[in-house]
Amino acid sequence: MEQIKKWIATEEEIAEGKTTDVYFVRTKQCLDKDNLSDTKVWTEVTTGGIPREGKQFLFLGLYDVLNLFSKANLDVNVYSIKEGTILPNNDVNGVRIPFLIVEGMYGDFAIYETPMLGYLCFQSGVGTAATRLRIAAQDKTLLSFGIRRMPPEIAPTIDRACYIAGFDGISCVLSADKLGIPATGTVPHALIMIEGGITQAVQSFDRHIDSDISRVALADTFNDERVEVLQALEALGDKLSGIRLDTPSSRKGSFKDIVQEIKWELKLRGREDIKIFLSGGLTEDTVKEYRSFADGFGVGTFVSNSPTVDFAFDIVEIEGKSIAKRGKFAGKKQVGFCNQCQIYLCEEFHKSAIKCPSCAKPMDKMIDLVMERGKILNAIPTELELRDYVKKQLNGKLEI
Ligand SMILES: [Zn+2]
Repeated sequence: MEQIKKWIATEEEIAEGKTTDVYFVRTKQCLDKDNLSDTKVWTEVTTGGIPREGKQFLFLGLYDVLNLFSKANLDVNVYSIKEGTILPNNDVNGVRIPFLIVEGMYGDFAIYETPMLGYLCFQSGVGTAATRLRIAAQDKTLLSFGIRRMPPEIAPTIDRACYIAGFDGISCVLSADKLGIPATGTVPHALIMIEGGITQAVQSFDRHIDSDISRVALADTFNDERVEVLQALEALGDKLSGIRLDTPSSRKGSFKDIVQEIKWELKLRGREDIKIFLSGGLTEDTVKEYRSFADGFGVGTFVSNSPTVDFAFDIVEIEGKSIAKRGKFAGKKQVGFCNQCQIYLCEEFHKSAIKCPSCAKPMDKMIDLVMERGKILNAIPTELELRDYVKKQLNGKLEI
């Protein structure tokens, strides 16, 4: 067991900086020897692009970063855009937007760049894919089924992002516990195979599972979907509330035609209320394609294995002097946002007011001090608050 467990970093090891890239350790050794470790710097997290040709992304991972800095007792100030904000990577002038800023002595926090970016890149990547699916599914039910594609240690991280993005349910028992919501799921093919068929499986489920859990039949194991749906209906009658189709690609043909046939048969029996859920390799594009005829989607790999948002961390000021490597923008920046024009504008950090270049009204300042000398300043928002914040931003959006 120990042999296997040693391939997971513990929280303590991460807080000690052991998951850093070795070049930061060597950098610190050099700076220490040259008495430069206490050089005061202002460093920005930015990104040059958004995966899957996106225009905007969901910013997540801030509180894991603050928790790490707090555990590591870093004497730093952190300024950040609010967790859960959906925004582009560049402002209206093509200047890279700083999402998170660390101010302090470089030698104190250099080794934490690696784990910090890990939290931000992964969570923002998953959150962005989940948000795009939320938009694609419109008002249809959306469930997170993707935790089996990733190590179990991060299952709650994946589901948290899906929940914040507005998914209607998640399948993981632990994630559901942490979020304070019921876990959602139907049955696997294994139950149908071992029980001896769909009739026996749905009857077993009905006998043994709490009556407040929806009776949703998986109808594609041995026979044609339409045949199995009718078998499930005969077995459960009024109790049957939904059907899940996980049809393998080798049998799929036209998924739309399969669903329409099933709906017709259900209609003939006066059961138009039965919901049709689809799962199995769904993507943003297939959800858009199927949403006109399906009632809900269980999505896995597209979210849990989504590309990361490739954030970078760069020094933009040293001892009060603006500086930047090639390709980056020097100096401390604040980010202004005009809600009316939906425009972002980077400005000098200490400028008292930022004027919208389009309507000339004062813009909202997006970056706030969130950690002062290692102390987290504000109450950490709940996942429900973050979910509401995302929902508010998505109101009416057709894409991000
Ligand atoms: Zn404006």
